[in-house]
Amino acid sequence: MAVQQRRVTHSRKGMRRSHHHLEEPTLVACKQCGKKNLPHRVCKSCGYYKNKSVLAIES
Ligand SMILES: [Zn+2]
Repeated sequence: MAVQQRRVTHSRKGMRRSHHHLEEPTLVACKQCGKKNLPHRVCKSCGYYKNKSVLAIES
């Protein structure tokens, strides 16, 4: 079945979402290197998650 695609304009969509990411994201300190990262994500600076190296990061 056909689905409506433009019932809400890009402008209206933008206005509705304009306040969605105003607050600071929650950050947790990495157990391995102490850097702040998003929770439940692999650490971007050392590649560790749950005390295990899951990403190879060249240093
Ligand atoms: Zn780390």
